[in-house]
Amino acid sequence: MEDRLFRNAMGKFATGVTVITTNVNGKIHGMTANAFMSISLNPKLVVISIGEKASMLKHVQQSGTFTVNFLSAQQQELSMLFAGQIKEERHVTFGDLQGAPTIEGAIAQVSCEVASAYIEGDHTLFIGRVKNIHLEDGEPLLFFNGRYGALSSETPVQI
Ligand code: FAD
Ligand code: NAD
Repeated sequence: MEDRLFRNAMGKFATGVTVITTNVNGKIHGMTANAFMSISLNPKLVVISIGEKASMLKHVQQSGTFTVNFLSAQQQELSMLFAGQIKEERHVTFGDLQGAPTIEGAIAQVSCEVASAYIEGDHTLFIGRVKNIHLEDGEPLLFFNGRYGALSSETPVQI
């Protein structure tokens, strides 16, 4: 099967956008990721998936911790920055959640300790035990079909 067919298909699954942050010996690193899932309520576990070529893989292996920051609709530029799509260096001021680095203004910040890791194909799945959570008001940044978007207030969900 062609890679493009697989990516086009996976791109039809609309997601939010996160930036994974971690602190390695006092240096903070960030990476854009949409492979995120909530796993378990008791205990509270989440999972992220990091590609074998991403520098973030060794950073999380080294630190044993990561924070998942759900970006707001206003943070597309940060998503592009942490995906390597903006070439020039930018200074980012990170927040702090009881010692864990965060993206300020993210609508949810979920700090985790790595509970376990599984290499599957060309990615590593990190199961995170949730330590702390900070929430802020705001709308999410969305990713669909390789494009960014936002919820439309003109089409409210009917339940
Ligand atoms: P680098 O290339 O070292 O860093 C990425 C960028 O972040 C660099 O341009 C750097 O300037 C910037 N940066 C990092 N730290 C800082 C800092 N402290 N201050 C300022 N800038 C900083 N890949 C996955 O493995 N899993 C996913 O789930 C995933 N989902 C994605 C979802 C979307 C919507 C997009 C667009 C990309 C996704 N990617 C995912 C791809 C991933 O974001 C890129 O491959 C990324 O470039 C890999 O980064 P890296 O860890 O190699 O770090
Ligand atoms: P795209 O068409 O490459 O991605 C669409 C969907 O395909 C993504 O949402 C993801 O579900 C899947 N996908 C893409 N690359 C993948 C990979 N290497 N491993 C597993 N699943 C993958 O969208 P785009 O706008 O061209 O993406 C921008 C860049 O970000 C590309 O280089 C892409 O490879 C990368 N990306 C990687 C992942 C990931 O590693 N999980 C996820 C999203 C995007």
